[in-house]
Formats: sequence, C-alpha cells, structure tokens
Amino acid sequence: MHARTMPDAATPDLGHHIQGSPVPGESGRHGTVFNPATGQPRLRVAFGSRAETGRAIAAAAAAAPAWAATPPLQRARVLFRFKELIEQHRDELAGLITAEHGKVLADARGEVTRGLEVVEFACGIPHLLKGEFSENVGSGVDSWSLRQPVGVCAGITPFNFPAMVPLWMFPVAIACGNTFVLKPSEKDPSCPLRLAGLLTEAGLPPGVLNVVNGDREAVDTLLTDPRVGAVSFVGSTPVARHVYRTAAEHGKRVQALGGAKNHMVVLPDADMDLAASALMGAAYGSAGERCMAISVAVAVGNAGDRLVAALQAKLAALKIGPGTTDVDMGPLVTGEHRDRVRGYIDAGVSEGATLVVDGRTTRIPGGDDGFFLGASLFDRVTPDMRIYREEIFGPVLVVVRASTVGEALQLVNDHEFGNGTAIFTRDGRAAREFASGVAAGMVGINVAIPVPMAFHSFGGWKRSLFGDLNVHGPDGVRFYTRLKTVTARWFADDAPGSADYRMPTMK
Ligand code: NAD
Repeated sequence: MHARTMPDAATPDLGHHIQGSPVPGESGRHGTVFNPATGQPRLRVAFGSRAETGRAIAAAAAAAPAWAATPPLQRARVLFRFKELIEQHRDELAGLITAEHGKVLADARGEVTRGLEVVEFACGIPHLLKGEFSENVGSGVDSWSLRQPVGVCAGITPFNFPAMVPLWMFPVAIACGNTFVLKPSEKDPSCPLRLAGLLTEAGLPPGVLNVVNGDREAVDTLLTDPRVGAVSFVGSTPVARHVYRTAAEHGKRVQALGGAKNHMVVLPDADMDLAASALMGAAYGSAGERCMAISVAVAVGNAGDRLVAALQAKLAALKIGPGTTDVDMGPLVTGEHRDRVRGYIDAGVSEGATLVVDGRTTRIPGGDDGFFLGASLFDRVTPDMRIYREEIFGPVLVVVRASTVGEALQLVNDHEFGNGTAIFTRDGRAAREFASGVAAGMVGINVAIPVPMAFHSFGGWKRSLFGDLNVHGPDGVRFYTRLKTVTARWFADDAPGSADYRMPTMK
C-alpha cells in the first residue's frame, strides 16, 4: 500500500454557506476530505468555530420573520425551482457523492432521487399546512387549529447519505416557514454545499438556509444556542444520545436518529434465490454503509444451508472497484473506517463464528491505495457475539440460525436497535404476524430495504431514534411546526357583561 499524500497548500479549501453566499473558514481548524477510491486527499474542509456558527444562526434568525410571513405557495414555488435544478444537476451531485463517499454512481443517483422526492413532497406544503376547523364548539364559538413555523431549525447529518439525509430535513423545514442551519458530515461536505448553492439559485432569500461545516464545536453551538428552536440529527447512536440530551436540556424539540442492526428473517418457504439476491443488495450495496442495510440474516428452520449456499455463489460474482466504474460495490468512506470494519471480521473469527467468505483477502484490481475491503459473510453467528450485537456499518453480513419464526421474531425484538427489518416468505399469515409483532420502525414484507417514500415518515424504534417524531412525510411537517388552537367568539351588541367564575363548559 502506498503512503497517503497529506493535503498541501494546493489542496482546495471548502468553507461555509452563510447569508446566501460561500464564506471561507476563519477558525484555522480544518479536516481532510478524501477520495476513498484513490485514498488521496481531495479537499480541506473548514471547521466552523463557535463564532462562525453563531453568525450562521444570526443570519437564520434575521431571515426568519420575513420567511415565516411569506405565503406557503410562494415558498413552495422556490422549492419547485429547486426541484428542477436538482434534476438538471443530478449527475453532478451524484459525482460529488461518489468522489467523497465512494458509493457507485448508480447508487449515488438513486440517493439524489430519494432526496428529490422529499423536495417534491415539500412542494405540496400549502396543502400540508392546512389546519382543522370546528364550527360552533359552543354556542357562537368556533375553534380552529393552525401550524406555525418553529423559527430557526438546525440539522446535523451523517456521511453515508450526503444528499438524501440533508434533503430529508431542510426542504420540509423551509417549506413550513422556518430558516435552517445545516452542519453536514465533515467526510463528504461538497454535495450538501452544492445543494445550498442550487437553492440560492432557485431564489431562496439569503439567510433562510445556511451551511456550517465542522465538527463537535459547531454541533454543540447549534445544540445550545437559544436562538435555535429545533434540532434534527442523523448519525451514530452515541452521538444521537448526546444530541438528544443536550438539545432537550436547552429547551429545543429534537429528533435524533441513530444506528441500526437490521435483521432480515428468511422462512423456509421463501424463494431462496430471490431472498439471497435481495440480501446481496441490502447487505453489500453502498458497502454496507446504510442505516437500512441488512446486516443480519435470520435463517429459520432448514432455510440456513440453502440461503448460505445461494449467498456464497452470488458473492463470487460481486464486482468491487472505484464507484466511477461498472461495479456493484465501492470502497469504504475512510481508511480508519475500513480498518474498524476489518477489526470486526477479526473479532468474529476469534469469537468462533464461521467465516464463509473472507473480504479481508479479496484483491481489488487497481484498488491498492483506496479504502477497499471485500465483502464478508459469517454463518452460525450467535447473539452473544460482538459482530451480532454491534453496528459494523460495512460489507459484513452475519447469518443467525433460528428454529422457528417465533424465535426469529424474539431475536429482532431483543436487539437494542429497531430501525428496519424484513421478512421473506410466501406465507401471508406469518408475514402479517411478524409485521404486527416486530419492534422496529420500518418493516418490509419481501422488501429488503423498506425505506418509506417521502410522503410517509422515516424512523426507527428503540436505540435507533431518540424523540417522538420521525423525519419527512406528515411527521416532518409536525416536527417543523408548532400547533396553535384558536377559540373565538364574536359578541352580539346586547350581550350581558357579567363575570362567570366557573370553568367554561359548552353552552
Ligand atoms: P456520526 O455520529 O459519527 O456523525 C454524524 C454527525 O455528527 C456528523 O455531522 C458529525 O460531524 C457529528 N458528530 C460526530 N461526533 C460528534 C460529537 N462527538 N459531538 C457532536 N457531533 C458529532 O455518524 P456517521 O459515521 O457520519 O454516520 C454513520 C452512522 O449514522 C451510523 O451509525 C448509521 O446507522 C447512522 N445513520 C442512521 C440513519 C437513520 O436514519 N437512523 C441514517 C443514516 C445514518
């Protein structure tokens, strides 16, 4: 392996986006953004200081009253233009994702599409913000509810979906009449920054969307600044817990989506070839760096041997290489993360699991300098093993054997994470009982990656989500708005003016 070049003065710098314009970083602190396929530094990204983050919050706070007063239809029109710009720049955005995250281009395009769908959803905001009205709740008294923006909202996003996850948040928040400060992942910041540029081009007033790059200093400023009213976070569970606690302590509403260990249960009656194909995409797509990746296959009854054999055959044909080439799987995001995932494979072997396919030994043509790791498959994994309990977030699939569907369900329900899960079967009743009884936020029936569409809401259970409301869809609108209920009476000219000290009841 060649030594990695460190960034020098010639490496371009990426700053922030504040008040509608690119702004260079001033803190003197920065991170290195790598191209995972080559292992070479691509950019230096500025790390925003408390003062710089404060300036972004101030810009959002100053823009908030006028944007909240802008009619929802006018706000939606900006988003319509943004939608068109994303469509026009889809390949450019996908290219930025592949260059910094490493996922293959077709997958990156899919990510942009899933983000675009949230923008399409947000374009319908005049309809989504309609309140409810009750005439004559008492004699001559009407009551109605309305949803108003929270004010300044903040979003903190992970590396694995640099377009889609920011797009889960700011289009809905902005459509609802809020202003926004986004702190994207420091590992792949170019795509979110480009999205902010496109939204400015679409006609968004300065200050309504601001992007601050950085690390914990910027995040903690967003979590504690009294001008921020709501925080959306997506990332690992330990950080989600910190974000949830800190922001809630500072009086903000919070939704903090965390890690996952998604199980796919395969019953003996399933079409094993279809189940194995679905598992391949769900486990190894995006090199397993998806919060909805399937990382555990639970083979019930005699499904185990057939499933493992089918997976082994398909793994032999898996193409790995730079995401810009015609392959199925690209590199991992950083060398550090690749080494961490490799450490889990070592741990699985020493814990006694059967390593059916060893990704550590896979040679990737032309991939010596990139952050590549082959795909691994473990069989006969047990719930006490670290490779079962912990989120690996890499191309490692573990197979657990269960005797009955009840035992399989218990496994899923006993795990600390509850993001997504799936069942593959031809038995409708078994699938129905599984969907009803499983403790997870998103369930697939013969669908391995059941990511809800933009007009539904996305979120897990247990340690996969801290907070009450999911992202996008109806919950997204609820999260980014405050409910107000008005009760109104208009007096007749001759109405008596006597005081009544009893609790008002309907008359
Ligand atoms: P991460 O938690 O390391 O980082 C997420 C964000 O938090 C980044 O913007 C990062 O800069 C910031 N951050 C990191 N450490 C921090 C700290 N100590 N204090 C404050 N901020 C901090 O996550 P990641 O590695 O970028 O992303 C992968 C994780 O995200 C996985 O656990 C994955 O399951 C999870 N994820 C979950 C979902 C979901 O919907 N539940 C979606 C995507 C990713």
